[in-house]
Amino acid sequence: MIHMSYDFRCRDAGAPTCGGHITAESEQELRDKLTAHLRKHGVDTPNETLLDHLVASAERR
Ligand SMILES: [Zn+2]
Repeated sequence: MIHMSYDFRCRDAGAPTCGGHITAESEQELRDKLTAHLRKHGVDTPNETLLDHLVASAERR
């Protein structure tokens, strides 16, 4: 299995004033952490389209 880690910064996803920085070792972990973080942006239940967009904007290593 190919190991992939993700490095997400809110400012790269269109929220320049948020210092949010999330790292994850899998796409599922990234999605879970994004869902939790989005509450700080007033989003209680993000839809899949938003999550897909944010996952796509994360840096993969
Ligand atoms: Zn944020």
